[in-house]
Amino acid sequence: MIKVELRRFNTVHGTEANVMTLVSEPVKMLDEMTEPTFRTLLSIAKDDPDGLMDSDLQYRINGGLCEQDSYFVLIKDDEVLFAGSSEFDEYSSDIVSAAESLKAEALEPEGKVIYSDKKSPLLLKVGNVSFTDGADGRFVLVTDTGILISKVRTALDAIIILAVLSIFITAFVIIAWLFTGVIRPIDSLRKAAKEIGSGNLNFKLEREEKDEIGELCSDFEEMRRHLKTQIDSKDRYELDVREMVSNVSHDLKTPLTAIKGYAEGLLDGVADNPEKRNKYLKTIVVKAIDMTTLVDELSYFSKLDTNKLPYKFELLNAKNFFEDCFEDYSIELEMKNFATEFASEISPDIMVLLDVEQIRRVMNNLIGNAVKYRDENKDGKITVRLTDAEDSVRISVADNGIGISRASLPHIFDRFYRADKSRTAGRAGTGIGLAIVRKIVEEHGGRVFARSELGIGTTISFTIKKGAKQNGNQNINS
Ligand code: ADP
Repeated sequence: MIKVELRRFNTVHGTEANVMTLVSEPVKMLDEMTEPTFRTLLSIAKDDPDGLMDSDLQYRINGGLCEQDSYFVLIKDDEVLFAGSSEFDEYSSDIVSAAESLKAEALEPEGKVIYSDKKSPLLLKVGNVSFTDGADGRFVLVTDTGILISKVRTALDAIIILAVLSIFITAFVIIAWLFTGVIRPIDSLRKAAKEIGSGNLNFKLEREEKDEIGELCSDFEEMRRHLKTQIDSKDRYELDVREMVSNVSHDLKTPLTAIKGYAEGLLDGVADNPEKRNKYLKTIVVKAIDMTTLVDELSYFSKLDTNKLPYKFELLNAKNFFEDCFEDYSIELEMKNFATEFASEISPDIMVLLDVEQIRRVMNNLIGNAVKYRDENKDGKITVRLTDAEDSVRISVADNGIGISRASLPHIFDRFYRADKSRTAGRAGTGIGLAIVRKIVEEHGGRVFARSELGIGTTISFTIKKGAKQNGNQNINS
């Protein structure tokens, strides 16, 4: 005989019966599970007590309870009419006496809940039954709490193992993310900053991810590229300036040497007849003019570059202006054995808005280059052509000179750039003539283009905006 401890047991209801209850108070949870069946039995005991003796009902009730580790027991006058589990035999006397004690305690008119303190504790829910023949009885819902408790313990162990595992996995994932997503890129950034600090910009910082660190890396890469471009262009500028200084010194030295030589010749009396003296003096003048042109070009460019030249725009007839302009060179070109052609494909009354002095300088530079870069093996030819380009007039200066290589062509408008040095050696130049052309044309709102083929010739074109013919004080060249 085992000791039975009777205890009131508080039933859990509603939302309280959650997973936490299952873990913290499994017996309460079991009580809650069997509660609907218990309530059904109580109402049967009240309305139709004899119905409890129906074996169909007994098996049905018991079948449902089995799934909740419970079984049904019916007692009538101390005689057990139904017991839904073979385990009942082991505890039958305890259960019967416990049910009896409940009656003695008379805690509630119906539905008692008690807890039996044993190796495998039993939860007993007892209901009183008064059969129609006057006999006294009880039905008991017996729940073996041990099964559930062990199930809960196993589940609890699994939950703890799972929790520990997930903590480890989470920690691993976070560490891996920290390493690949933060530490490694920051390390690359640190190395990149160090490289930049030591003056090396020839590397690439790559990161595909579009997160904050990825954006930081791409901003850093952008900064590196920007710095590199600036330093490269500064280096190129310095190189160009150095080259230009050397070219200019050479270009100044050559006429100076000639002037010195001819002047000494005059002083020493080498030019002993008026004809010779005249020739010497003429050469001195020509060389001095060359030098003046060079110095003038340099100072002009410097003024242009610093925007110190004021523009005086005038509305002029395009065809007349450019024809006159080209005409000014005809005698000089003829003397240099150049064939010339002026072709106007625009309407004769089209007006353009331009600064005469500046555009004359553009034409001077383009025609000057056509002469300078002539092909000595053929008769030179220079063609100036005007064509319509929507709201502008396009002016092209074409020659049949030595041409410009494909690699040099994109750079010829850069300041101080001199293309194909081996082929142009011996032809004086500063590399700023076309830079001046571009600057002036752009100040006029136009654009410059170049087309060239080695050994065939070069065509440099620029556009000038058309202007409406106006009455008033406009200076109109016609
Ligand atoms: P430069 O003072 O050297 O002539 P430019 O700025 O006028 O400088 O021209 C830049 C370079 O473009 C020249 O050094 C030359 O190599 C090339 N170039 C310009 N015009 C011509 C042309 N008509 N034919 C061949 N090469 C030309």
